[in-house]
Amino acid sequence: MTVNVFFAARASLWNIYRPALTRAFAKAGLDASLSDDPSDPRSVDYLIHAPNGPVTDFTAFTRAKAVLSLWAGVEDVVGNPTLVQPLCRMVDPGLREGMVEWVTGHVLRHHLGMDAHIVNPERAWNRKTPPLARDRNVTILGLGALGAACAETLARMNFRVTGWRRSPKALASSIVCLSGEGGLKKALSSAEILVLLLPLTARTSNLMDANRFALLPEGAIVINPGRGDLIVDEALLEALNSGRILHATLDVFRTEPLPADHPFWCHPRVTVTPHIAAETRPDSAARVIAENIRRGENGLPFLHVVDRTAGY
Ligand code: NAP
Repeated sequence: MTVNVFFAARASLWNIYRPALTRAFAKAGLDASLSDDPSDPRSVDYLIHAPNGPVTDFTAFTRAKAVLSLWAGVEDVVGNPTLVQPLCRMVDPGLREGMVEWVTGHVLRHHLGMDAHIVNPERAWNRKTPPLARDRNVTILGLGALGAACAETLARMNFRVTGWRRSPKALASSIVCLSGEGGLKKALSSAEILVLLLPLTARTSNLMDANRFALLPEGAIVINPGRGDLIVDEALLEALNSGRILHATLDVFRTEPLPADHPFWCHPRVTVTPHIAAETRPDSAARVIAENIRRGENGLPFLHVVDRTAGY
């Protein structure tokens, strides 16, 4: 029987995802009808969802078996009271590779002190040698699909990596894995470079406030590709101005695009990147979607189901 799939993401993504999904469905042997405008919501079997798409009320999709997010972060939809079907988030190898490259690049920028040589109007012959990675502590808050991949890459490069997560699960033996409030304090107190890769939930919102910034070593670097709301902006600015934090590289913000008059734009020790750390890649993401539909059609458990209570 034909499976009806509704592409409920913003219109500009349709032409990009349509061919990738069509190829992935064919490869998975799915007899699927893909539409961005189904005539009857009651005939839809699966919704492919992304923020700013056409669906905010799922009530009419009475036959739908799952909502499949194109995004890794699902804070915009997870609390929607009309959504009663399983919600699967995006765990895409392409997205993961992108995040590993972005995080590694920005960690290396700060670790090696590259800025001093890129912008050097005084032509200073400053031969300060950076430490080796083996002598640099990097802390990653969030050791999920993205945080764990970054932690493993940095550990392979010899960085001393500490991670913090909700569950007390271990990664590779060289990575110190901590959890709980005590673990967070420990993780922050050694963080010469801090990377935030937590999802936005009720428990992680405003996590990095003045008290937690005060736990970081003097001169720490903050890199945030997670979510803007993980950070209390005013607390970060105060920590930057006091010198406790030497630099913040921020990819995500409470309001996006970052408003033109936000102090982050002109702060000399803040780098703003426009939410480009990692993007879902259509070909690999389409294969993930196709696999989940195949599983649904064969009575198998879906992959990457969001825990609605935990919020991620
Ligand atoms: P994930 O696989 O769900 O991992 C989330 C991690 O955070 C897990 O390790 C989880 O712990 C931990 N965590 C959640 N709540 C916690 C809490 N209250 N205390 C301690 N740890 C907690 O998510 P992901 O795929 O790695 O993605 C992480 C986030 O990156 C996304 O939610 C999104 O916000 C962001 N993101 C940004 C971009 C970008 O371009 N900037 C792109 C994609 C994603 P457990 O391991 O114990 O469950």
